[in-house]
Amino acid sequence: MAEETMIDETTEAIAKRSFPPDLPLLATNEVVIYPYMAAPLLIDDETTIHTVEQAMKTGHKVVALFGRQPVEGDSQDIDTRDLREHHLCPIGTAIQLVRAQRAPDGKLQLLVHGVSRVLLERIPADTQYPTARVKELQDIEESTAHFEALSRNVIGQFQKAVDLAPNVPQEMGEAVASLPERGQQIDFIATQVNLDFEERQKILGELSVRRRFEIVNTYLNREVEILELRQKIQTEAAGTIEDAQREFYLRQQMKAIQEELGEGEASREIDELREEIVKADLPDEAREEAERELGRMESMPQASPEYSVSRTYLDWMVRVPWSASSEDHLDVKAAEKQLDKDHYGLEQPKERILEYLSVRSLKNDVRGPILCLVGPPGVGKTSLGRSVAAAMGREFVRMSLGGVRDESEVRGHRRTYVGALPGRIIQGLRRAGTNNPVFMLDEIDKLGSDFRGDPSSALLEVLDPEQNHTFVDHYLDVAFDLSNVVFIATANSLHSIPPALLDRMEVLEVSGYTQVEKLEIAKRYLVPKQVSEHGLTSKRIYIDKGALRSVVSEYTREAGLRNLEREIGTICRKVARKFAEGRQRRVRVKETDLPDYLGPPRFRQELAETSNEVGVVAGLAWTPVGGDVLFVEATSTPGRGRLRLTGKLGDVMKESSEAAMTYIRSQGESLGLSGAFWEDTDVHVHVPAGAVPKDGPSAGVTMATVLASVYTDRPVKKDVAMTGEVTLRGKVLPIGGVRDKVLAAHRAGIRTVILPEDNRKDLEEVPDSVRKNVKIRFAEHVGQVLDQALVKKRTSNRTTARPSRPTRSPAAVAN
Ligand code: ADP
Repeated sequence: MAEETMIDETTEAIAKRSFPPDLPLLATNEVVIYPYMAAPLLIDDETTIHTVEQAMKTGHKVVALFGRQPVEGDSQDIDTRDLREHHLCPIGTAIQLVRAQRAPDGKLQLLVHGVSRVLLERIPADTQYPTARVKELQDIEESTAHFEALSRNVIGQFQKAVDLAPNVPQEMGEAVASLPERGQQIDFIATQVNLDFEERQKILGELSVRRRFEIVNTYLNREVEILELRQKIQTEAAGTIEDAQREFYLRQQMKAIQEELGEGEASREIDELREEIVKADLPDEAREEAERELGRMESMPQASPEYSVSRTYLDWMVRVPWSASSEDHLDVKAAEKQLDKDHYGLEQPKERILEYLSVRSLKNDVRGPILCLVGPPGVGKTSLGRSVAAAMGREFVRMSLGGVRDESEVRGHRRTYVGALPGRIIQGLRRAGTNNPVFMLDEIDKLGSDFRGDPSSALLEVLDPEQNHTFVDHYLDVAFDLSNVVFIATANSLHSIPPALLDRMEVLEVSGYTQVEKLEIAKRYLVPKQVSEHGLTSKRIYIDKGALRSVVSEYTREAGLRNLEREIGTICRKVARKFAEGRQRRVRVKETDLPDYLGPPRFRQELAETSNEVGVVAGLAWTPVGGDVLFVEATSTPGRGRLRLTGKLGDVMKESSEAAMTYIRSQGESLGLSGAFWEDTDVHVHVPAGAVPKDGPSAGVTMATVLASVYTDRPVKKDVAMTGEVTLRGKVLPIGGVRDKVLAAHRAGIRTVILPEDNRKDLEEVPDSVRKNVKIRFAEHVGQVLDQALVKKRTSNRTTARPSRPTRSPAAVAN
């Protein structure tokens, strides 16, 4: 608001004063003075000062003040003495000089009062000082309802502006009301509104009071709006400052109280946590939750159990890698090198992994399939996963799902439980320290489920790219984005993977190794690894090839490499001891030294030592630990034609045995038996080891052979093993796991393996080194199996087969 002061009574008197038509002339482009208003005026140019001094000498002390017309360019160029009509605005004010005073710097300070609006008629020439001939003007009044409404509105707005404006006395509003004329009121309001010179001049030049109200109305509305905004901004700013100050103040107070109570430690801890929350760069939702918890924590005594619950929670919140991620450097060529460097063989899985990495390197939106490496223990599944992580430059974490029965192991317990923790996924990520590691879900086939909930449903969410960006751990209780994690699953067998999970994954089979491969891997990888792990070097130990071969074949019998690696470790340990005890010279481990290091050989080529027997058949089974040889035994006793099956056989295996039985009974003639040869005989078939459950149809041919052997009393060739499903008509149907089964037969010293004819195509999976040593025969019909497996010798008397020798077999599933 402008600064003019209000008129007083004397002004009223002054305003009524009359003045001659020729008045000393002042021109200005700075101030506009309205009638009835008092204002200060500062004059600094000498001509004008002179004019004023002359005017002071007149009796009326009235001068005419006119605004300069706006001119192009700099107004300073105009000679103030050279005043013409066209330089000035046509309407100005006659003003009364109330007081004049010279300031020390020579300027003239005036206090003036507006008297009335005057029209500039002309500027007479040849006067002593600039003079104007003026004519007094009257306001044009109006008294319509519209005008009344307008004027009241303007006055109301003005009151509002006064209320909103800082440092403006409230009486301003009342002062307007006390002015007798609308014209005076609006002029007064105009002096108070923030306007520039031209706007003020425009109001001065308007004789119609209504027009003046209209003009001022627009300016006033603008002014009110600005004032309102200003107030709003100020309140907001004040609000935040006040809140912050208040919080600071309260915190200081609380700190003081806590110090007093001996809980200063707690406040320090809370400050630290607050800082850590900022540093951890949590997503909004998580940050809010963490801050809320921190707030709760502040109000708890440090000794309370809730305090430490909150503390643990916040500790987790700030350590989970919400935004920490490692940078990918995916170079497929380098990845190939890495995979080859870490692994011997494994061509197929390597191929597939490289394809997988290639796709990822081309297309960065991660929705790739989830790889599931399936194979027996110790064949390098975990180690492949590690190499993938190394090739991608990512962290590697592993989580074993074996025996996980509880959903909350995956998803965490709710915080309300005592001792609750996040689930293994979040724990794994915390260990990794980044939110995009390669995350290996080990033994996904060993997942259990019971009344505590089904962990596989939680895993489904984890592995589903559509859902896993908002994975909610029960403990953290806020969503975590898992979409950048590369999940790789491993399993020993496909059967027990929950189908819904299997559906989400791409299976990559990693099968067992041959003896030759094992020897190579031992030489190139396992020995150097174990040697260095035991603090030795090749200068101190050398295990020769014969020794390694013997470890492979006589000390281990497995599809993978776990025991082999362990045995090599044992040798290294014992050698390390020798050096610790003072040995100087290099140790060379020869085959003949092995009993000293590892004890007597654990596996002999047993078959070579046994003879062909009646009622013992080597069946080939596929188990989660690789292929295996099962020695199925049968014996007959006098009875009534019953079949007894033992050895924890599953339904499928039992039924396939019965089918085999029926088939053999129907074949009396071709077996050289007459009539109902089975009627007075009970047969008992047993599949060791008796305590391990077994199932699957692929033991059909083995059952048929063992029964035929018992009924005909023909011995079975000891070095023949077989696998295949049998139909009631004796047809041999194909089975799975050919490579693993043949490898197992080879390990056990079997010379001939009989496979279903339809499995001929799978033969290419079997390495040449094995095929050189194991003859593979194919059969379409049980008759062909019996021809090859049973010893040709025929005996006329049926004797009871002797109980056969015990066999070793950890077998589980024969499918
Ligand atoms: P899995 O996870 O399948 O049980 P691991 O990855 O733990 O098997 O492998 C067992 C050991 O054998 C590891 O030390 C691994 O490095 C080694 N290994 C397995 N396969 C190979 C291979 N093809 N070449 C070299 N080392 C291997």
